[in-house]
Amino acid sequence: MDYYPSHFDYIIIGAGAAGLMLAHAMTNDDYFSEASILILDKDQKKTNDRTWCFWEKGSGQFDEIVHKSWNHIYFEGKELAKRYDITPYSYKMIRGLDFYEKRFEKLKNKKNVTIKFEKVLHFSESDIQVSLKTTSNTYTATTVFNSIFSYEAANSQSTYPVIQQHFVGWKIETDRPVFNADTVTYMDFSVPQKGNTRFMYVLPQSKNEALVEYTLFSKDLLDREEYEEALHTYITTKLNCPNYIIADREQGSIPMTCYNFAQHNTKRILNIGTAGGWAKPSTGYTFMSTAKKIPVLIDHLKAGKPLTSLTFKNRFWYYDLLLLDVLSQNNEMGHQVFESLFKKKTPQSILKFLDEESSVLEELSVIWGCPKWLFLRALINRLS
Ligand SMILES: Cc1cc2nc3c(=O)[nH]c(=O)nc-3n(C[C@H](O)[C@H](O)[C@H](O)COP(=O)(O)OP(=O)(O)OC[C@H]3O[C@@H](n4cnc5c(N)ncnc54)[C@H](O)[C@@H]3O)c2cc1C
Repeated sequence: MDYYPSHFDYIIIGAGAAGLMLAHAMTNDDYFSEASILILDKDQKKTNDRTWCFWEKGSGQFDEIVHKSWNHIYFEGKELAKRYDITPYSYKMIRGLDFYEKRFEKLKNKKNVTIKFEKVLHFSESDIQVSLKTTSNTYTATTVFNSIFSYEAANSQSTYPVIQQHFVGWKIETDRPVFNADTVTYMDFSVPQKGNTRFMYVLPQSKNEALVEYTLFSKDLLDREEYEEALHTYITTKLNCPNYIIADREQGSIPMTCYNFAQHNTKRILNIGTAGGWAKPSTGYTFMSTAKKIPVLIDHLKAGKPLTSLTFKNRFWYYDLLLLDVLSQNNEMGHQVFESLFKKKTPQSILKFLDEESSVLEELSVIWGCPKWLFLRALINRLS
């Protein structure tokens, strides 16, 4: 039987994007070199369970595992169908499995890090520590970072709408060249909206290989067959490709909400990643949003500040809230919002805004590019 201590300075629950980014950052900082760190996950992370995309200018910290990157995106609405050069941005794709392998490879050589594949059943906090029970062990820790996400808390309130970005994706291989390998289909709204915000998202890896995702921004999930029918129809009719094989599949649901997940942080437990509300509410993009928050968290820990005082709320939260109010009250109008934006603004200005790096003037200009009456109505409803 292995011997390992059962008390740790830090326990990270979940070896997903946030857990592994945090562990990586801690183990690369001398401040934590004497700290004992336990990473727990119920899953061995040996499959390519997801594909992460994000955009950035120039080179970045994940470049060694970037599987493919593009400098062009395509948008299609009801009246607009246009390919855009997004330089100086690149749209980058990472395979989940490459990320897990790379991070585990480094972490397993760190003397102060223990990795256990056990399901966490329960954890609770006392004045002096957090006690944690897994399927096979009991641990204690001074501080716990939790990335187990649940919709429960957000769904039990009504102040902030909770929309899901839900999708099923097929990695397909076609018998003839179908895709422009140079261009990501960012949003194709030519599919029937059926009272929701529905679009196709296509990440081509070559002329005859792509990940095609049927995506909705709406409250409720669909039956599995409905996503699959929509994918098949799109591939056979819009892409005009009756002969294809499905090489891989992925599916997901990402929360889109301004609900304050940080209110559940305590003296010793900090929720991170999606569980911490780090998914950008208006887009669901979480990977880069998490990568940007990790250094802030590291500085916060090093400064000895209380976990409960860590906040990422800024003025973009209000913009996100307005969009989510619009999508929640008029889910069928989502395509008009995005089409209007792409008609009036450059993709660079939209990406900069979504990155929360724009100036107030630039933000007003982006918002002005949206259907005004929809946003004004949402604003009045929110204020009244
Ligand atoms: C298929 C898919 C595609 C996505 N694509 C993108 C994208 O392109 N760009 C983007 O920005 N975001 C994307 N997201 C959203 C987001 O980036 C990911 O969900 C990301 O993985 C969130 O990181 P996380 O650490 O919060 O959660 P996760 O990566 O899901 O990590 C949580 C970990 O906790 C573990 N866990 C859960 N319960 C327990 C338990 N009881 N005990 C022990 N371990 C447990 C899980 O096994 C998992 O490893 C995608 C999400 C999905 C599902």
